[in-house]
Amino acid sequence: MTIKTLAVYCSSSDVLDQEYFDDAHAFGEAMASHQWQLVYGGGMVGLMGAVAKSIKGQGGRTIGVVPEALQIDGVVNTIDDELIITPDMHTRKAKMVELSDGYVALGGGFGTLEELLEVMTLKQLGYHEKPIVILNTRGYYNKLLDMFETIYAEQFAKQQYRVLYHVSDTVTDCISYLHNYQPPDLPDKWFV
Ligand code: AMP
Repeated sequence: MTIKTLAVYCSSSDVLDQEYFDDAHAFGEAMASHQWQLVYGGGMVGLMGAVAKSIKGQGGRTIGVVPEALQIDGVVNTIDDELIITPDMHTRKAKMVELSDGYVALGGGFGTLEELLEVMTLKQLGYHEKPIVILNTRGYYNKLLDMFETIYAEQFAKQQYRVLYHVSDTVTDCISYLHNYQPPDLPDKWFV
């Protein structure tokens, strides 16, 4: 599977530990070196801004997808090659999903979690078979991954769905997974 465009879901916070920014920067550089175009929330804030800046710094291409209501000066990035304005958040998320050949979550809060879980749910239901990677900087997602284990243990999802997503501790592993990705054979979602 050839990747041309990646959606990166990540934090809008500017006050995170430096390690998150270092990974965001390294991830942006790696994307640019693979000539993978970025689709993201279009913010100049937080890790979003860091990834976009890093890609642009390496001559890469970025597309911001921003809902009308979030077109705020000082929040929306001005460095993007393309800015797509959508009427609302739902349309925006759908646009990001549609434009991208894969999805990566760096550290993030509620917005990032919503985006990550949506693409996982869509993959589980067979709407797409694109790669999904969780970059687990500082073990940030460990408790979420524990929750996923509870989901399997309690049979809210089949164990085989572990292949829906890949967890990377490093940017290098994340890039290598994306580079070598082959869609898995997934069982039906339904427990009977
Ligand atoms: P959060 O993790 O709650 O900081 O939300 C970040 C995620 O939600 C990003 O991946 C964006 O796609 C979206 N998002 C949140 N805030 C903004 C914003 N001000 N501008 C654009 N996208 C945003």
